[in-house]
Amino acid sequence: MDDSEEDNSDFHSADESLGHGEAQSGDSDAEDEAEDSEDEVEVNGGEAQNNGAGSDDQDSDDEDGFMYHVRMQIAGRVDVDTVTARPTMITYDPSLPTTHAYLGDDLEDHSGRTVLDDDSFVSIPLMQMHGVILTPGQTVPFHIFNQRSIAMLRSVIANDRTFGMLYDCKLSSGEVFVTNMGTTAEIISSKDEDEAGIGTMRLKAIGRQRFKVIESHRQLDGILMGKVLILEEKEVTDPLEGVRLKSYRARRVPPSSPRTSGTGFVEDAATWRRKRRKMQFHEAALSSLPSFVYEMYDSAMLMFHIKCELRSWYEGSMRLDAVPANAVDFSYWVASKMPLEDKQRIGLLQVDSAVQRLRAELNLLKQCTVLRCKNCRTHIGNKSDVFSMSLDGPMAAYVNPGGYVHETLTLYKAQNLNLLGRPSTENSWFPGFAWTILQCRSCAHHMGWKFTAVKKKYKPQKFWGLTRSALQSSLQDNEMEHFVLQM
Ligand SMILES: [Zn+2]
Repeated sequence: MDDSEEDNSDFHSADESLGHGEAQSGDSDAEDEAEDSEDEVEVNGGEAQNNGAGSDDQDSDDEDGFMYHVRMQIAGRVDVDTVTARPTMITYDPSLPTTHAYLGDDLEDHSGRTVLDDDSFVSIPLMQMHGVILTPGQTVPFHIFNQRSIAMLRSVIANDRTFGMLYDCKLSSGEVFVTNMGTTAEIISSKDEDEAGIGTMRLKAIGRQRFKVIESHRQLDGILMGKVLILEEKEVTDPLEGVRLKSYRARRVPPSSPRTSGTGFVEDAATWRRKRRKMQFHEAALSSLPSFVYEMYDSAMLMFHIKCELRSWYEGSMRLDAVPANAVDFSYWVASKMPLEDKQRIGLLQVDSAVQRLRAELNLLKQCTVLRCKNCRTHIGNKSDVFSMSLDGPMAAYVNPGGYVHETLTLYKAQNLNLLGRPSTENSWFPGFAWTILQCRSCAHHMGWKFTAVKKKYKPQKFWGLTRSALQSSLQDNEMEHFVLQM
């Protein structure tokens, strides 16, 4: 497995542009001669990798002078925009970002689905790309330049279109650690191009099943092959099923979740919870444990609490009744939508039971109220500033032409940021919006992009897209104390 790191470095050799489209050098060729030449030096000096990819590769020299100095020299202008209210009406079509139109409209769709048996051993090619921790159900776009990977993907497309995406994690030392776990990726559409013998490939893949690598080896052609065990999804059953009388079971109409009725009204959440609690109380009386224990492990109740936490993020854009209904899919969906650090997401993906995963997610959701710069912990935004501009929810994966995948979280306001360069509409992930690079005001690390509408009719007129790789979510300092006392 050690040599997959080598694979990764190849992967990004051709990439790492700052924006969706332009490398930073492309951004800098007009107005201001003096600043431009600095920018150019920067890009060549490796800063583009640091900022653009959000991959912050060489933090070790940061504070000791040169890199810090260079960084501050290219610090952008202060983003002084202030927004006072959450957008109550969004006039933008939220299905536009989900099409990944910037990848081009010439991708060929593939139909059919490959399902591998749980608990079976299969042999699949493995890939690893820093920044991508594929979650079952998550769609990720790729733009691949590495010739070895393209050759691998070509043969995958000709067969069952399935390869393994390994989880990796950056340690605080800066080292990238590749785990022995991953998720199978099924290619749903692709475009293979070959110009003068140099291939590139654009594709969309969807995460399917988690796996554990049993053994791996690199073939003569450089492709990493793994013998993997497909991990079983532990079935979620109602823990009270055992105490229920058969005759009662037949008559019982379980309130499975607060749902939309035919007339479109959401059943009152408090009523739903009351009904469910009452039913659990009576059923638990037949068992040896009190009802609150069952409530803690009741997947429907856990999903209900998570939806309550998420509701504010989705206001105005997407209804939460469109999310997966079963506990397993829902738990993965939540894992892919939360602005978690790599190790937290991997932690969730290592859990075999959906109930345990939901419990951990609820905990994390309650603990994450503030979003900070991962590098210097500057306060960038709040959970309450998060909203959704896409049908995919407040966070989704997008790829820039350099091949770097950014999971981007949308906020209607953000603070302590600088803008770098001028707005560009090229390859915008949100068609109709121009992007400008954002840096942390304190440490100049790349944080994401500010999006500004090119048409007056779009509401909101601006929003902030922050890359998951640059964020750390935590409690506010005063909440921390509250949290400790509560325990
Ligand atoms: Zn910072």
